[in-house]
Amino acid sequence: MMATKTARASLLDKPNGKFVVGQYPVPTLKSGEVLMKIEMCGICGTDIHTWRAPAEAVFGLEYPISLGHEISGIIESLGNGVTTDSVGTPVKVGDRIGVIPAIHCGKCYFCRIAKTPEKCTDWKTYGTWPKADQQPHFTGGYGDYLYLHDPGSFFIKSTTTAERTAFLEPMAVVVHSMLHAKIKLGDTVVVQGSGPIGLLTTACAKLAGASVVIATGRSNRARVELAREMGADHVILAADMPSEEDRKRFVFEKSLNNVGADVVINTVGTCEAFKECFNFVRHSGTIVEVGNFVDSGTFDFNPCTQLCERGIKIIGSFDNEAEHFVRAMPLIADKRIPLEKLITHRVPLEDVEMVLGVIEKGQKLDNREIVKAMMVPDISERKS
Ligand SMILES: [Zn+2]
Ligand SMILES: [Zn+2]
Repeated sequence: MMATKTARASLLDKPNGKFVVGQYPVPTLKSGEVLMKIEMCGICGTDIHTWRAPAEAVFGLEYPISLGHEISGIIESLGNGVTTDSVGTPVKVGDRIGVIPAIHCGKCYFCRIAKTPEKCTDWKTYGTWPKADQQPHFTGGYGDYLYLHDPGSFFIKSTTTAERTAFLEPMAVVVHSMLHAKIKLGDTVVVQGSGPIGLLTTACAKLAGASVVIATGRSNRARVELAREMGADHVILAADMPSEEDRKRFVFEKSLNNVGADVVINTVGTCEAFKECFNFVRHSGTIVEVGNFVDSGTFDFNPCTQLCERGIKIIGSFDNEAEHFVRAMPLIADKRIPLEKLITHRVPLEDVEMVLGVIEKGQKLDNREIVKAMMVPDISERKS
């Protein structure tokens, strides 16, 4: 079957390589498949790690790949038999959907017995799979289309705008760690980090009933100010409070009964940030680690004095799965969370590599800090 229409996809040619925008034939759907016209795709720091990873670290990925996993789009066409989204809501051409990029097998021990599909042993994900210069193409968010061709694909109808729907995937990461955190009414919560995941976590901690939320940041004043807008009661900018002891004292002073935070959630990908969680958490409190999904090293740890004697719980939260997306949808639609304020830049497809480079170096783009840059296929010029 020859497709006549073509559309663009930006493909990363090799580990540490170049993003090349090419034209590929738009597929004709087989039964059960969905073609999504991408409206917006969040440009995410995770993509920098995949981009820069040495070849041996991305064993199993076949290049070129199409990155981009924070995807909002409109159903362009539906294959035979597709009448609902993956949770049974009726869908039709023209509806906005959010997609769960990861595809879990549903058969392995982790999918079926442990019920932690995010640790599926036969895991793959749109945004790195499959090899994108051959059929089916359109396998990631940095393009005009996403082609949901795998029978295990999971998508849900959106109840909100394109801008907000592009936050569905990061919000699902946050929902996952929030479920681990088990925040109770009246809790004091410290959120380490004010990047997109930290900011969403701050908003969710407040919605979950925390009475005091303290957000931290290293040096970026604009981001901790955004944390206040997301609901933080207090912020710590390490640049203003360089002493570790002072930061610890601040958290204790602001916490209920001055005993430290009930819950500390680390969204920063450094060892130091995780280590500092132990200064903030109260005895018998909880630390949830979500930031260190890339190896940032090790530190000395005393299991007696730091863990057992203090009765602390430490929980690692990795990626997300269907339940987290279903729970994330009403949150991204909730106007109490001013998600629009996180979008600092909208860029055309050709700019993805440049923007990833700017984020990597921690630089400004068009004289503004990047909080969340969105790739918008239908624009030809950057908007800040
Ligand atoms: Zn992401
Ligand atoms: Zn599985």
